[in-house]
Amino acid sequence: MAEPIIEVNNLSVIYNKDKSNEVRSLLDVSVKIYPQEYVIMYGPSGCGKSTLLYSISGLQLPTSGSVKIEGKDIATMKKKEIVQLHQTGIGMIFQAFYLISSLNILDNVCLPKVFRGDSRKDRKEEGMKLLRRFGLAEQSDKFSNQLSGGQQQRVSIARSLVNNPNIILADEPVGNLDSESAENVLKILKDLNEIDKKTIIMVTHNPEHLIYADRILHMKDGRIVEEEINKDKRPKEATQADMAANPETISDEIKLLMRTFKNFSPQQVGAMLVPFKAKQLIAHVLSDLTEEQITSAENFLKNLLFKNDTIDAFSKNLDLDFDEGGAGWNKMRAESFSQRIGKTLAQVEVLSAGDMNMAAKSVSEYMLSLFKIELPDEIKARMYAFIKLRLENKIDSAGLKQRLDAPVKLGGVGLYKPTVDKFAKEMEILMLLKYSA
Ligand code: ADP
Repeated sequence: MAEPIIEVNNLSVIYNKDKSNEVRSLLDVSVKIYPQEYVIMYGPSGCGKSTLLYSISGLQLPTSGSVKIEGKDIATMKKKEIVQLHQTGIGMIFQAFYLISSLNILDNVCLPKVFRGDSRKDRKEEGMKLLRRFGLAEQSDKFSNQLSGGQQQRVSIARSLVNNPNIILADEPVGNLDSESAENVLKILKDLNEIDKKTIIMVTHNPEHLIYADRILHMKDGRIVEEEINKDKRPKEATQADMAANPETISDEIKLLMRTFKNFSPQQVGAMLVPFKAKQLIAHVLSDLTEEQITSAENFLKNLLFKNDTIDAFSKNLDLDFDEGGAGWNKMRAESFSQRIGKTLAQVEVLSAGDMNMAAKSVSEYMLSLFKIELPDEIKARMYAFIKLRLENKIDSAGLKQRLDAPVKLGGVGLYKPTVDKFAKEMEILMLLKYSA
């Protein structure tokens, strides 16, 4: 069985441990990367991508856990072995290029060879070969400040390759480049993987780059939260062993489920799965609409809320068949639903007008009619006053509920508990719809 070229086991990196400024950069991360894979570490800024990349390079030491390169634990390597790893085992490419401005381009590329004691002639030959490959031969005696960003990054790629390492680590390598140069550099990395058979690990936060990789490690808050596979280059036995050990790997079964249930994620496997199932089952039984019919209606509703559509257009769109661009509901349902939404939005209009007395009066009437509540005038006046307090943000939802629920004798409205809950929820929806940043 092919062994992983990189093996990260239960790696945690904590900066300023036990101090007030402690940062948990990586938490219990495990991953195996196999020879000739192209892996992307993807996630928002600060999620720990670079820390993981630098841990793999040996530039960042673990707080706990281990990193093995070609079977050897970096922590047990002697200084000489680490130096060798950086000279010949791993090539690195950075967002900021890090070229030496006082050396010409060819000397920059050859620099990693100087430390290895190769002859000047050999160094230059190898360096020129790489510069020619990347279309930079004519720039060889120029200095970095005479080159464009894209050219400088190609020089730094050439430098990373000069000792022919098996592994290339790239930290946001196109983060500083215009889109054309970026594409060019990404294409070079892809060729290095496919033609030169290098193992590539790239850090990026740009979703457009993900298609280049064989495998994508989605990271969040110092952990790998999902693994996405475009092309599985891992040995079969390893994949199976990995799947058994790592329930988060996406199986076909989960993939297919994710197509129907858009909110379903592999992380829900385990503790989160039962609440998700319960929610879906309730939605399914209480509504005979499909996920697609709901999603499509949501989009029309967005248009309505953005005021791009009228309520009549909204109703028509709900009723229209899928093939005609509608949400595929039936006419009766579309009409009663739009009526309900229309009434709600009319209240939002009143609220937005800003006259609180008028708004409270209008919302009171709306609630009485919506929940078919009948009250003596005196109690209605109380309800009106409580609604006004909520509209003016003088009480929160819990405060409103408490007043609606309290017995009439004690100054409340004395509503039946389920009505109180629905009433308060409706109120919060109105407040949310009215809210504008
Ligand atoms: P990414 O590459 O995903 O943007 P990083 O790995 O750079 O994330 O950083 C992960 C977290 O660790 C961040 O909160 C960052 O501020 C913190 N961090 C990184 N380096 C250091 C350091 N040397 N000292 C303290 N905190 C650090």
